[in-house]
Amino acid sequence: MRIAVIEDEPRLADNIAAALREGSGYAVDVARDGAEGLYLAQTNSYDAVVLDLMLPKLSGREVLRKMRAGGAKTPVLILTARDEKELIVGLLNDGADDYLTKPFDLRELRARLQSLIRRSQGHAVAKLAIGDLEMDTARAIVRRGGVTLTLVPMEYRLLEYLMHRPGKVISKTKLLEHLYDFHWEKFSNVIEVYIAGLRKKIDAGSSVKLIHTVRGHGYCVREEEPE
Ligand code: CA
Repeated sequence: MRIAVIEDEPRLADNIAAALREGSGYAVDVARDGAEGLYLAQTNSYDAVVLDLMLPKLSGREVLRKMRAGGAKTPVLILTARDEKELIVGLLNDGADDYLTKPFDLRELRARLQSLIRRSQGHAVAKLAIGDLEMDTARAIVRRGGVTLTLVPMEYRLLEYLMHRPGKVISKTKLLEHLYDFHWEKFSNVIEVYIAGLRKKIDAGSSVKLIHTVRGHGYCVREEEPE
């Protein structure tokens, strides 16, 4: 998952980014003002946006309105100061999905974001399953046939993205866009490397293969062979 954090307080922005990268395994891009944030939101495909209200250049509310006017359906979580609370009703009407009042607990921010992303992809609970492959996204645990698997963080992120879209073929470009922020070098073979790792851990001991490569199109997780 890839998240945009639009927040002008440098320390808070850095703490949020670190918590999401290390705690949730998300790729994170940070914008320090509203104009930069809107630009990021319009030029990248994010799984969620964390948006502060009081921002230089363009307010959070303007960023939200312009995003929604442009048709973006990305979940948006608003960060608000205590005295901005009366604005919340208006913001929810403008298309915000959730909000947190500062100061907040970073674990709560992570849980709320996870829930927003999950719901935006049509899942109401934190557990995903395809066949006997199960992922508990709240506890970052993956099991196949009841056996817990040890995945490296990128394998987990890749599998999480695919399992949120069961049976759908996802292109390598799309995976790179959602799993890396713009500070990473986008070497195109990294996805193959992590897919190979997942295949080894998930499919090697089983007659039913779940990780599929559709040549020229991308990858998917499903029980049957894709056509
Ligand atoms: Ca601010």
